[in-house]
Amino acid sequence: MMPNTPLSEISVIRDALRTSFRKGLARPIEWRRHQLFQLARMMQENAEAFAEALTEDLGKPKLESYSFEIGAILERSLIGAQRLDDWAKPIPVDSPDWQKPLKPTVYKAAKGTVLIIAPWNYPLVLGLQPLIGAIAAGCCAVLKPSEISPHSSALLAELFPKYLNPDAYRVVLGAIPETTKLLELQWDHIFYTGNARIARLISVAAAEHLTPLTLELGGKSPVIVDPSFNINLAAKRILWAKSQNCGQLCVAPDYVVIPRTSQEAFISALKEWYTEFFPEGSMESSSISRIVSPAHHERLMDLLNRSKGEVVFGGHTEGSTKIEVTVLKDVPADDSFMEGEIFGLFLPIVPVDNIEDAIEFVRNREHPLVIYVFTEDPKLKQQMLDETMSGGIVFNDLVQQLGFNELPFGGVGQSGYGRQISKYTFDSFSYERASIDVSSEMEQFNAVRYPPFNDEKFAL
Ligand code: NAD
Repeated sequence: MMPNTPLSEISVIRDALRTSFRKGLARPIEWRRHQLFQLARMMQENAEAFAEALTEDLGKPKLESYSFEIGAILERSLIGAQRLDDWAKPIPVDSPDWQKPLKPTVYKAAKGTVLIIAPWNYPLVLGLQPLIGAIAAGCCAVLKPSEISPHSSALLAELFPKYLNPDAYRVVLGAIPETTKLLELQWDHIFYTGNARIARLISVAAAEHLTPLTLELGGKSPVIVDPSFNINLAAKRILWAKSQNCGQLCVAPDYVVIPRTSQEAFISALKEWYTEFFPEGSMESSSISRIVSPAHHERLMDLLNRSKGEVVFGGHTEGSTKIEVTVLKDVPADDSFMEGEIFGLFLPIVPVDNIEDAIEFVRNREHPLVIYVFTEDPKLKQQMLDETMSGGIVFNDLVQQLGFNELPFGGVGQSGYGRQISKYTFDSFSYERASIDVSSEMEQFNAVRYPPFNDEKFAL
């Protein structure tokens, strides 16, 4: 395994990247495009090694790694390369006729030398997706991947210099001491993905230098099930989404709120689909990842032990990283599972009297990254749009929103701020630079602005 980056090297790396940025290394559009193609090549030529690293870190099934991580970055690097000219082009703005000769224009300017801090649950996507935007925008960047997914992080550190220009893009390996050191330095943007507790530390460090931030956080993304929707289909989709990456997904369905009269029908359907998806039991299945670390396993088992909900199925555990897909019913609002984001294979069901109470339940909590609603009722859909807040809202399916290259992704309130994916990530790493260009000939129209402001001026 690769050693952590020595603390004494961290400011040297930052300084070198700043010098490159000032020299304009990352400015030419063709140069940026080449780096994006190189990133795509890195994914393609090392797909097998990346898939193996993800299996080591998280027990990820290869199909999941290829589609959600390796393929996603490959595709989005190419999209960036293809659309770069359009994203980066100066935009002339409309203005009154007399201002037109001043050529008012908005330039898309790179923010500078930026820091990307990524978590462990999707180690490639969550580090490299921001990087695509940073490259496209013309920034130099340090990527700090997570110490909790060491195989993927080490592979990124090994491959970066083979594919990307090391004068512009570097990986810093390490944990809290290395990240703390990085955060002492001045950056032109920090893009942090992770939990809200650490986000507060990042925000304090960024405030010291007035550094702009993107915070991609998590939280409790709820699912509301309207009984008039096909309950069997809702159960199938929800169970599939919950089992993705062993529940360790920022947009995983955290809990389900359903009118009490439909709770049992929903549970029967979940049981049916559980047997269909995992005939050998979820802990034996090769179609499911594992819990990332013994510490997270312990955290999850503690939630289960303190829960007042009734385990409907699952609840078993094996070793220090395996937990069965577990559904709990009659979970009260003050349950251990309602304290914070679950980030594991537990699905608590909160029964309520009716759909209005379900909406109220969600509204009374922090704004989530996404709200999922299963309903065919257009009035209910509109009510959800009008009366709730969340980074995204998805009707009748889950997780699939991540596959759209044109939809912005991000949170609101406690689930974070800033947006990413394709052009939205480019925008996060650029700023809009306003410009006018006033020719000497325009001087004839300027007479009135110069003192002295005498009667002659008023006559003009
Ligand atoms: P993590 O523990 O890997 O932490 C994320 C990063 O923060 C790592 O690079 C880590 O080194 C760094 N870090 C940890 N402690 C630090 C400290 N004290 N000071 C400075 N840096 C520190 O990952 P995590 O936070 O457990 O990730 C899971 C969380 O991320 C969940 O809440 C999940 O919902 C959220 N998430 C959000 C998104 C999104 O796009 N919105 C995506 C994935 C995960």
